[in-house]
Amino acid sequence: MEEKFDVAIVGAGPAGISAACVLADRGAKVIVVERGEYPGSKNMFGGVLYGQSLGRVIPDYAQKSCPIERNIVESRISYLSEEGSIGFAYRDQAFFGKLHNNAFTVGRAKFDRWFAEQARAKGALVVCSTVVTDLLRDGAGRVIGVKTDRADGELHAKVVLLADGINSPLAVKSGFRPEARPESVALAVKELIELPEEVIDERFGVSAGNGVTIEILGSVTLGMNGVAFVYTNRRSISLGIGANLCDFAKQRVRPYEMIERLKLHPAISPLIKGGKPREYLAHWLPEGGWESVPKLFHDGLLIAGDSAMLFNALHREGSNLAMTSGRLAAETILHALEKGDFTSRTLKGYAARMEESFVLKDLKKYRRFPSFLKTHGELFTTLPRGALEALREILTVDDTPKETRRKSAWRAIRGRLTPLGLLRLLFDAWRSIR
Ligand SMILES: Cc1cc2nc3c(=O)[nH]c(=O)nc-3n(C[C@H](O)[C@H](O)[C@H](O)COP(=O)(O)OP(=O)(O)OC[C@H]3O[C@@H](n4cnc5c(N)ncnc54)[C@H](O)[C@@H]3O)c2cc1C
Repeated sequence: MEEKFDVAIVGAGPAGISAACVLADRGAKVIVVERGEYPGSKNMFGGVLYGQSLGRVIPDYAQKSCPIERNIVESRISYLSEEGSIGFAYRDQAFFGKLHNNAFTVGRAKFDRWFAEQARAKGALVVCSTVVTDLLRDGAGRVIGVKTDRADGELHAKVVLLADGINSPLAVKSGFRPEARPESVALAVKELIELPEEVIDERFGVSAGNGVTIEILGSVTLGMNGVAFVYTNRRSISLGIGANLCDFAKQRVRPYEMIERLKLHPAISPLIKGGKPREYLAHWLPEGGWESVPKLFHDGLLIAGDSAMLFNALHREGSNLAMTSGRLAAETILHALEKGDFTSRTLKGYAARMEESFVLKDLKKYRRFPSFLKTHGELFTTLPRGALEALREILTVDDTPKETRRKSAWRAIRGRLTPLGLLRLLFDAWRSIR
């Protein structure tokens, strides 16, 4: 395999394949090295993909049989305490009709495979069952290729793109990214629960390939800083839950205990009743935000996607950041190929493109969000019950005067959070997203 390429890409996830498509489209000689038996075989995510980011790489993806599960027409947010839930739902006609115009669900095993096929059709070489074990450098320390676990598996390339995901020993070993700190990483588990299509349609009030997402916060993470989700696929439901790695270590909770409890919650169990568990997967995700993004370019090397810690924890967006960073890395490499300069001097254009894009703009805007969640543990402990009890007071109709009920509702909150604490929470929440 000792061959010279324009670009060697490590990882056939959304970041790596987006880059491969853009590069191959413009005639660059590209190889993608993937450790899985096939692209997607080792990958897991919640399930929501964003049409615009994909469309920038494959404009006619819907006509090219992209394996879309459901078109998302409704987004719900649920705040759960042990006994109940408070929710918000947003459904919009704008998302009906012209299918797949915003967000849709996919399964990674099918999607990544399909996406890699698009890259192959454009001329990229995608090699699976091969692990990149190290980076090759010249005497001056410039990256000039990768070493794989195959016999004679050195690949020489003008530029290497690291798109190998959150757990990137290569980036760490080579000194391009510090080891991800436990407070910057979440561990999430997901179960796929199979149900007939018409049952899902009925339970979620949808039809004709439309679907719903539910983002869940509250005491379901057993006091830990985390979230859960329920996403509809065509004939299954993705149920997942995750929390900060530090919190798992502190609380000694096992991820499967969390998901089992979530399945029993009165707001969740009716949605999955009678379903057959099909798959159980666990994965890390980067949650450190802006502060944890490493330097994105070096001599002969760029970093994209989760490997560069690009994840918007507030909006639960990662795949679109990965696809966009892969595309922008590819555009930078095409410029470098034109100039024949693969040093930082030209490759730094990637950082400039990223700063101009929504990816770094959003992460910068929400840079305080990770610490907001960390410092306001009450969101996951006492506040869910306080909020539920307060609403119970307000909405229970009997012969109690409303003034008395209003005072009881306020007491339910104040019993958990002092007025100053509440002000601090609201102020910090506002500051974390302004
Ligand atoms: C539980 C969970 C739910 C999520 N939900 C969503 C969601 O609903 N919507 C969303 O937009 N984002 C979501 N995300 C985030 C999203 O999955 C990631 O941001 C996205 O997959 C990152 O893409 P990537 O290409 O950078 O990395 P990955 O998708 O991790 O791909 C990296 C690839 O590199 C390969 N690889 C790794 N090391 C090597 C090596 N040494 N040699 C060769 N190959 C290697 C891997 O096998 C893999 O195929 C979720 C994440 C998790 C964990």
